Amino acid sequence: MNAPRSRTSFSPGEALLKNLCILGSTGSIGVSTLDVVAAHPDRYRVVALTGGGNLSRLEEQIRRFRPLVAAVVSAEDARRLREALGPDRPEILSGIEGLIACATCVEAEMVVSAIVGAAGLVPTMAAIEAGKDVALANKEVLVTAGPLVMEAVRRRGVHLYPVDSEHSAVFQSLEGHRRNDVRRLILTASGGPFCHRSLSELKSVTPADALAHPNWSMGRKISIDSATMMNKGLEVIEARWLFDIPGERISVHIHPQSIVHSMVEYVDGSVIAQLGIPDMKTPIAYALSYPERLTLNLPPLDLCALGSLTFEQPDFARFPCLSLAYEALREGGSAPAVLNAANEVAVAAFLSGEIPFIHIPAVIRATLETHRNGPLQHIDEVLRADRWGRAAARRIIDSTP
Ligand code: NAD
Ligand code: MG
Repeated sequence: MNAPRSRTSFSPGEALLKNLCILGSTGSIGVSTLDVVAAHPDRYRVVALTGGGNLSRLEEQIRRFRPLVAAVVSAEDARRLREALGPDRPEILSGIEGLIACATCVEAEMVVSAIVGAAGLVPTMAAIEAGKDVALANKEVLVTAGPLVMEAVRRRGVHLYPVDSEHSAVFQSLEGHRRNDVRRLILTASGGPFCHRSLSELKSVTPADALAHPNWSMGRKISIDSATMMNKGLEVIEARWLFDIPGERISVHIHPQSIVHSMVEYVDGSVIAQLGIPDMKTPIAYALSYPERLTLNLPPLDLCALGSLTFEQPDFARFPCLSLAYEALREGGSAPAVLNAANEVAVAAFLSGEIPFIHIPAVIRATLETHRNGPLQHIDEVLRADRWGRAAARRIIDSTP
């Protein structure tokens, strides 16, 4: 096997370069991150990439961005990738050890956490513990282990920059203001593809209907989460930990145009918002370049052409996942990790045609009802709650006619 190229192979005068590890580089966020990197080759160098199933895309990315190290899920995929890349290739690792090695590799200064689901938790925590700044897209990291992650961020003195567009908007709307003056956060939600469908219409929607998001092009899991509005529920929990604000002071407004990405309301009644066209490259770039802004070649926001921006209350009856997330946040302890695990299992079951759309919240509720809550003091306890939640949700699906 070829020895990985060492840091010394980089030419001098690269002091302004930021070295990035991208966890989940083959996904929707990973690809957009690499688009931003490709547009700013003088600012970013990719030192580590990881991908799940999409080997050919990862191979292409490795050829183009030439990282020092890469990781895939299985040893078999690692072997196939080594073979495909030939002798002039980086070190190719596999499994959770491979993910951790990439997330903690000495050369990486910032880790973009863009794996989907709880699978991203361990490598993201490893990055923080290794003193890396993190650009966080993977909301499930904070949903499952928010207090532990934020404690590690403080203890290690690293920066955690939000990539999720709502959290990036809140982050930007907080800049230059006193935290004590914040009254509440208002997260906007497009409402997803079924925003105005009746409950009876929701009974017959298919995975293809649910994957067709009106404003954003995203991975499959988050697209279904947007359709059930669990995505907004997970984002409320994410915001709770990221901005240290209780759930009661985080509201959700449906805003079908996805132009106002979120807002902060202050005690004097002022509301500060961040607006832009719905393109993840904007929040990704801000997380990579904070406090600077990178030039992005995106169409400008034309408010006059849009004409109007509308807002409405979410319908908790049609979208019970949102209430389930608020409830799990109120309950605390292991409830959010179990909520997330049950959601991951239920979404996968819907996508594979095992359960109808409206059973997703039913499976999550039934899982939470049988769960005995406990405190989470260590990441192992989060992983245990995650495993328990998955097994319980699976049993519920299997025993439902
Ligand atoms: P995606 O499904 O398109 O990509 C996920 C990436 O994770 C892929 O590279 C995949 O290979 C990898 N992966 C999946 N399972 C893995 C596992 N078990 N081990 C290792 N790698 C694995 O997802 P996405 O839409 O890019 O979303 C990524 C994360 O960002 C999610 O947490 C999502 O909620 C969040 N997010 C996404 C968007 C968006 O616009 N796509 C916006 C905000 C937040
Ligand atoms: Mg979001």
